[in-house]
Amino acid sequence: MSQSLIVHSPSGEILYQYNNKIIPFNDLIGSLVNETSIQLDDNFFTSSINQKRFYCLKRDDIYASLYFDIVTTIDNDKIKSKLQDILKTYIKLTEDLEEDIDEDIQIKIKSLIDHQFNQLMKLQANDDITGNSTPEPVTPMKTPKKVNEKSSGKKAMRKWVDGEMIDQADGVLDFSESKESDGVRADSQQLKVDNMTFKKEKDLVLVNELNDILGQSDDEDDEDETPTSGFLSKFTSYFGSSIDIDEVSKKFHEQLVNKNIAPQTSRQIIDRIKTKLKGKKITLPIFKQTLIDELTKILSPNISTDLLYDIKSKSSRSRPYVISVVGVNGVGKSTNLAKLAYWFLQNNMNVLICACDTFRSGAVEQLKVHVKNLNTLNESNQSQAKIDIFEKGYGGGDHVVATAKSAIEFGTKNDFDVILIDTAGRTHSNAKLMAPLKKFGDAADPDKIIMVGEALVGTDSVEQATNFNSAFGNKRNLDFFIISKVDTVGDLVGTMINMVMATNVPILFMGTGQTYTDIKRLNVKLIVDMLMK
Ligand code: GDP
Repeated sequence: MSQSLIVHSPSGEILYQYNNKIIPFNDLIGSLVNETSIQLDDNFFTSSINQKRFYCLKRDDIYASLYFDIVTTIDNDKIKSKLQDILKTYIKLTEDLEEDIDEDIQIKIKSLIDHQFNQLMKLQANDDITGNSTPEPVTPMKTPKKVNEKSSGKKAMRKWVDGEMIDQADGVLDFSESKESDGVRADSQQLKVDNMTFKKEKDLVLVNELNDILGQSDDEDDEDETPTSGFLSKFTSYFGSSIDIDEVSKKFHEQLVNKNIAPQTSRQIIDRIKTKLKGKKITLPIFKQTLIDELTKILSPNISTDLLYDIKSKSSRSRPYVISVVGVNGVGKSTNLAKLAYWFLQNNMNVLICACDTFRSGAVEQLKVHVKNLNTLNESNQSQAKIDIFEKGYGGGDHVVATAKSAIEFGTKNDFDVILIDTAGRTHSNAKLMAPLKKFGDAADPDKIIMVGEALVGTDSVEQATNFNSAFGNKRNLDFFIISKVDTVGDLVGTMINMVMATNVPILFMGTGQTYTDIKRLNVKLIVDMLMK
């Protein structure tokens, strides 16, 4: 099978290419210019030329295009979503650059985009293995089918044995009877549940730790990790003997930057190592171990992340436990808020979701879909807990505060345990947009404020975390981060270091996909291993 990917301008100038198989793209670019390609969705096109199937997504006058030279069985919306990620990565990494893209950025673009493209190709490979080769007719984007034959008609019940969930149908459940009386339809793509996400300890349902290196093939995992592999091989002769600290520092700095740690953060880390090792005999293993210890320390702020314990310890209060979620636009705030809701429902807590993104058109409706999905899943679990939405439509700053206050009143009267408040996404560098957060924080007085930050971001994450952390005034900081989209960056997990080091705010969870069970607890050792690999 052959396939290729390019990022390009409307005229066909290649900005990035996955491999050198780019000549066939001339046909695609011709079909775009002549408008003979089929539009599947907004800015998403397909063409079939010379036995190749092309897909192309446009954003801000930049295109990401790929082709398969055999029939593909991958869903159109999966292809679109991956092309969206690829374009987002490219645009984010290059947007502030005025001149040529320097080598560091080129390496980062290459690792991130190649990783995302390979993830998509793995889907194709899996389909080839399972023999699922029914060609997908090219049709405009359609609402996915709701019924999975395997689980048709089955209402599964949650059962736990030895801390593991059994007897709940895996995969997409049958929600063909899902009501639409309120005009909102559950999204079947998000109704997949992975039972391995949770474990039961006593009467608590806990989120499992990340336990594998996301998106890495087995071969990569088995890579030789002896000190002679990779860039360290250059220093083999130094083993056991003193090293040139400046030269080694430079190499480790490059390594950290290539893992998406911001250059200024990496420099601070390396300076700390140098200070710690001052006056000592420094060998390569000593330098490496000191760096591992430092990264481990950064990712382990001495602050409890036991959210369930905190909620339970405050359950005798009259008011529900209030959590608000903040972050820039599109990072996954509402998706991760819904993941938290799903987890609380597993713990038999009544959850009220409050729609305080009252600016962005469609934001309230988007939350309603999440609540519809969660209600559908909750019914299939035959859960005793309830979930509902509180919204008062759209409006300006005062409307947000009034909505939050009313939601807390409503939640208190109606026996809700937790209120999750979604807030409008805002640009962290725009003081005018950040200012209302303080007013909101003062009025809602959330028990916890969680910032969602994307793993993709890289350098900008330092400023994002710092600005959101200081947005609530002198007496109030962020309590936790959720790092989203960790599934899209492979081992380039440096954003976590950037955000935690800038603020000393701990990571509560990592988002590892788009379903409600794509959530993992931080595994510090694994993340540090990824950074050192
Ligand atoms: P918001 O604007 O911050 O509320 O962002 P949304 O929750 O609407 O998410 C934006 C997009 O990111 C949606 O397409 C989500 O499905 C997707 N998304 C959110 N979290 C993750 C994640 O952990 N992994 C991946 N791959 N996509 C995610």
